Amino acid sequence: MPANKPRPIIGGNWKMNTDRTSGLALAQGTARLAKAVEQTVDVAIFPPAVYLPLISQVLCDASSKVILGAQNCYIGEKGAFTGEVSVSMLKDVGVSAVLVGHSERRHLLHEGDDLLTAKVDTVLGAGLTCVLCIGEKLEQRETGQTDRVNELQLERGLKHTSIDQLARVIIAYEPVWAIGTGKTASNEDAEAAQAHIRTVLAAMFSTDAAAAVRIMYGGSMNAANATALLAQPNVNGGLIGGASLKIDEFGAIVTSAAHAHA
Ligand code: PGA
Repeated sequence: MPANKPRPIIGGNWKMNTDRTSGLALAQGTARLAKAVEQTVDVAIFPPAVYLPLISQVLCDASSKVILGAQNCYIGEKGAFTGEVSVSMLKDVGVSAVLVGHSERRHLLHEGDDLLTAKVDTVLGAGLTCVLCIGEKLEQRETGQTDRVNELQLERGLKHTSIDQLARVIIAYEPVWAIGTGKTASNEDAEAAQAHIRTVLAAMFSTDAAAAVRIMYGGSMNAANATALLAQPNVNGGLIGGASLKIDEFGAIVTSAAHAHA
């Protein structure tokens, strides 16, 4: 267990949701609630790529410290990659963090280990924060492979990451069976998996470097279960899907994080 818990981060992963109007309202609401906790909690949002410039402007107009994140990026700098978006384009519109390896990209869109390693390298190489998402499927949990799966995904994802770059890495532990299902990992199971993740990071880098890494929990986190999850020693935040689309619910989670860190 880390001696001093790192500053918590709560991220809203909007996925392929919102439209222009609802996204703007959600961004404005998030900017307001982030201001109230800016001494203790980092708040991030990951809107659909097409709305990033618009939302960047809203956050800028509100002098908001909300971290603007992208849900994905490509590894090429520019050129013939139809449909893709580069990290320099993301930076150009005010993005400072990128999700890599979300389970929907791993499993629905079949992104493999080599591509994900290259994405981590690209994001970190561009000076951005990388939120590396890892987590086991249900059958892997049921057959006792949770720690092994997390280990492999960490080792592959951070294969080329230096200890200096690790300061810009956030891990999101998201058991696949808990994402969007209303089934949350128990407090004990989340803590056990996340403590193991920190042990793996300590072996790969150093104990001190690992202690400073924020490890978020993701998978049906909501206003009702956030307080207990965020009280776990190795849970340093949450990556929120469904509940990030309702400003009151997201606000309650952000407030729980502020209390957990008070
Ligand atoms: P959920 O999604 O909160 O809807 O389970 C979390 C995520 O996929 O990041």
